Amino acid sequence: MSRFLLPRLSSLTAYVPGEQPRGEKLVKLNTNESPFPPSPKVLEALCRAETERLHLYPDPNATALEEAIAARFGVSGNQVLAGNGSDELLAFCFQAFCGGVCFPDITYGLYAVLAKLYGSDARVIPLSDDFHIMPEDYYAAGRTILFANPNAPTGLYLTPGQVERILRNNPDSLVIVDEAYIDFGGESAAPLLSRCDNLLIVQTFSKSYSLAGARIGFALGCESLIDDLRRVKFSFNPYSVNRLSILAGAAAMADEPYFTACTLAVTRTRSIVAAELRARGFEVTDSMGNFLFVRPPFQSGRQFAEGLRARGVLVRHFAKPRIDGFVRVTIGMPEQMRALLDATDQIMEETE
Ligand code: PMP
Repeated sequence: MSRFLLPRLSSLTAYVPGEQPRGEKLVKLNTNESPFPPSPKVLEALCRAETERLHLYPDPNATALEEAIAARFGVSGNQVLAGNGSDELLAFCFQAFCGGVCFPDITYGLYAVLAKLYGSDARVIPLSDDFHIMPEDYYAAGRTILFANPNAPTGLYLTPGQVERILRNNPDSLVIVDEAYIDFGGESAAPLLSRCDNLLIVQTFSKSYSLAGARIGFALGCESLIDDLRRVKFSFNPYSVNRLSILAGAAAMADEPYFTACTLAVTRTRSIVAAELRARGFEVTDSMGNFLFVRPPFQSGRQFAEGLRARGVLVRHFAKPRIDGFVRVTIGMPEQMRALLDATDQIMEETE
């Protein structure tokens, strides 16, 4: 730490992203990326001509991308804001709306970091003993509410009916629903937008659209909420979505058959692997994400993650109270999941 850092940031512990190995050949199941490449339509869109235009700034309104998103959700262009990954939109939300905020104790780790970075008064609400978000714990919250649905890293999911009850019981508070993993079998709360002016939805292209490397996220809400977020965006980084990502995102969203095929393949593999792990005695939450959250019955989460790594399989372990017995496993290609199960069997044999 330098002597120039603002005092209020000296106690900030930054978010630690999952490892992105360089060079090493590993089965990478640690950061919930899609195992599929982007749609072929994305590769066509990223043409040489656009690359040659990289000397020019991108459209600051990312119009082509926001229009593709608006068309997909049946909302007006003024109800969409695109950003540099949903992480950026979450940061804008904290800057715009989170003087006081509440979120679950076990959830996406960035929320607590953003709360600290932006000086929000954060109230942490424990999940139930079996890791569910209890909607009634959020009734009359008296502050902005933020949760991921499905939640991370548990994958557990609230129905639109449960989300609506949280909205109805907080008519004067904003409810931000982070739907990063909604496309793997969940139902978005987006249809509620026409009835609820206190709902803001954040989604990403990083998982179901196979574009984690392009860094594209978006927010959906009523026009005035999106206007507020746009005010923050244009005060922070007006060109936050780059030229190539605008084209890539629009093309990915337009290729619905490819999106459907990829997300279906992931959900099918998820149920097969969940059954395989349950048969080996693992506790497995009912994940609706592109990952499983699993507890080995024979050793700690950390030991299991280390044992897998020693066998070339990378998963994510969170050294946090309540969940340190678990690891999170991204759903990959069938052969990657075979490698996970084979490594698991080896570990189980050795620990008997
Ligand atoms: N929300 C949740 C719940 C996540 O797990 C992630 C991925 N780490 C994000 C948001 C951020 O996604 P991105 O910035 O890649 O859009």
